Amino acid sequence: QARKRFGQNFLHDAGIIGRIIRAINPQPGQRIVEIGPGMGALTQDLIAAAGQLDVVELDRDLIPILRTNLFRHLDTLRVHEADALKFDFSSLLHEPAEQLRVVGNLPYNISTPLIFHLLSYQSRIKDMHFMLQKEVVERMAAGPGDNNYGRLSIMTQYYCQVVPLFLVGPGAFNPPPKVDSAIVRLAPYTELPHPAQSLPALDLVVRTAFSQRRKTLRNTLKPLLEASHIESLGINPGDRPEHLSLQDYVRLSDLYFQLHPTPVTDTTDGSGAAE
Ligand code: SAM
Repeated sequence: QARKRFGQNFLHDAGIIGRIIRAINPQPGQRIVEIGPGMGALTQDLIAAAGQLDVVELDRDLIPILRTNLFRHLDTLRVHEADALKFDFSSLLHEPAEQLRVVGNLPYNISTPLIFHLLSYQSRIKDMHFMLQKEVVERMAAGPGDNNYGRLSIMTQYYCQVVPLFLVGPGAFNPPPKVDSAIVRLAPYTELPHPAQSLPALDLVVRTAFSQRRKTLRNTLKPLLEASHIESLGINPGDRPEHLSLQDYVRLSDLYFQLHPTPVTDTTDGSGAAE
């Protein structure tokens, strides 16, 4: 019986499961964590290929079912009954150079805060493959000028290369969700292409800019920066927030940080992460 509050839609389409596993391409010895394994639709193939696996599952009633379905691998499956939003992913890594691969057919209601939580471990993560609501993948991958471009695009692209892989229709799940889904690969950069002086400042500037996306930067950024400041960077204060690149936002936030070096509250934990 699927539980709505845990966002449970179980994959049953063997063709789609095979495609996801081929995209992930798990290799022997790799340290992989699966978030929300459910009854093990992806877990089986992941552990068979990697030879070991960590899983983080919140619904304790599913864990005995998962263990039964994975009885051949019980000695190499590590089950963490926990909320992935609060889980310390660095606890899975034992050596300094070790990196984690993350996989999840996520409950869609927690996907954005969970990804922000995972991005805080960016240097310890090799890659992440997620099943997400199609629109969320579109927002992550959007660039300047796209309708879907916003906070999620900029903060994800700050850390990761975003590679949308393929669409998955509702029929692949039981019960079928009301939305279309897509598989995305997020590959954190080893070296950030546009590092910001202060991450909280970047997040503050981006959130403020997109709080009213139809208005000009001069108006939306008024609480943080004057038009003359924006202009001093060669950015037109009459422009709309959706036309600026990630690099522009990094420059605006560095300027804001230089003018207001007092610590800003860290808002990158996913609260209100939708825009
Ligand atoms: N991976 C399975 C599959 O593909 O069939 C299940 C996918 S289902 C969409 C999402 C899974 O995440 C469920 O097993 C659910 O219980 C689990 N889950 C929900 N919220 C969670 C959380 N905060 N932390 C960890 N797991 C969670």
